Amino acid sequence: MQSPEIIIIGGGLSGLATAYYLEQEGKTAHILEGRNRLGGRIYTHRSEEGPPIEMGATWLGKKHHHLMDLLGALDIDIRQQYMGPKGFYEPMSMVPPQLVDLPTEEDPTYRIAGGSDNLVQTLADRLNGSQILLDQAVTSLQKNETKCEIKTEKDLFQADIVVSTLPPKLLVEQVHITPPLPDDLRNIAALTDTWMADAIKVGLTFEKPFWRKPDSSGTIYSNVGPVYECYDHSSNNRYALKGFMKEAYHSVSRARRKKHVIQQLRRYYGEKADHYQRYHELVWRHEPFSYAPYEQDIIPHQNNGHSVFQNSFLDGRLLLSGSETASEFPGYMDGAVESARRTVRRIKSCF
Ligand SMILES: Cc1cc2nc3c(=O)[nH]c(=O)nc-3n(C[C@H](O)[C@H](O)[C@H](O)COP(=O)(O)OP(=O)(O)OC[C@H]3O[C@@H](n4cnc5c(N)ncnc54)[C@H](O)[C@@H]3O)c2cc1C
Repeated sequence: MQSPEIIIIGGGLSGLATAYYLEQEGKTAHILEGRNRLGGRIYTHRSEEGPPIEMGATWLGKKHHHLMDLLGALDIDIRQQYMGPKGFYEPMSMVPPQLVDLPTEEDPTYRIAGGSDNLVQTLADRLNGSQILLDQAVTSLQKNETKCEIKTEKDLFQADIVVSTLPPKLLVEQVHITPPLPDDLRNIAALTDTWMADAIKVGLTFEKPFWRKPDSSGTIYSNVGPVYECYDHSSNNRYALKGFMKEAYHSVSRARRKKHVIQQLRRYYGEKADHYQRYHELVWRHEPFSYAPYEQDIIPHQNNGHSVFQNSFLDGRLLLSGSETASEFPGYMDGAVESARRTVRRIKSCF
């Protein structure tokens, strides 16, 4: 039995940022993470031959000021996403792909220098006193007279304050909470979109960026698919294309998804598409620490930032954080940081 004062459930961006901001207020916390890695929906695939490939969160804008402030405080740079002069556009299956001029972006999109996991690792490295425990999937949470008891598959913990950074849907469906959370919270949370948790990302590394020409690029917008968006994902003279595949392909095999992706790339780049070095993919729907199926259809961002998430529960001992609870840019990395800041302000005002 261990008894830290504050326990944070989830070691994604929000959980790590919460611990980081708490330490700036002189407080430490324990982070309980269910996976055997940190980062949650931030996951950068690293390999010898290719650039880092973002299988989760990738892009940000300068309007994401909570995230920008955090990156600035941690001395992490951003790099503008390369779009190219022209992109491939496939309006419908009956007509061939067209090359169209890409507009100059008024509000450019950026990526985190060195990979999105650079932010995750830097936050973890900066923690000094807080402890991170991996492979600690929380299964239940119970408020007793003076504390909260948190059970994982392996251990039992106690805390005065518990911060959940789990996507709200996962918290209410996968953690047994006593006394039960109010119905309004449970109903809203069960129908809260966990942003992008049903996405499929695919990436291919290549020796040469054959797509980078005055009349071509790695930018693809396709209504035909199965990849509906694709971008140049190169960095530091290592080259890759990375895109989003239609969610329905989660039900076919990896080999079949790969075959479809290559077939599609051939439509734009011919045989060069066959000479990839590695194919990478992540089907987020197969990740139980991010995705749970819905009983009814929901729309993107449904209930993201709902005001019910701002309340505290279990007599003030349970606070909800995490991107989907944010009031600004919920669902995005910025929301994860905003919710961390809000939570720390709240803890500070109570203790
Ligand atoms: C494919 C994809 C693309 C995206 N693209 C972008 C983008 O370009 N830009 C952008 O801003 N955002 C993007 N996002 C969203 C972004 O990743 C999230 O907003 C952000 O990472 C959320 O951080 P979080 O800490 O709030 O939640 P999460 O990252 O979901 O963290 C929750 C943590 O809790 C852990 N956990 C779950 N259940 C338990 C349990 N029972 N016990 C203990 N731990 C548990 C999880 O493993 C996870 O580490 C994307 C997401 C995906 C999946």
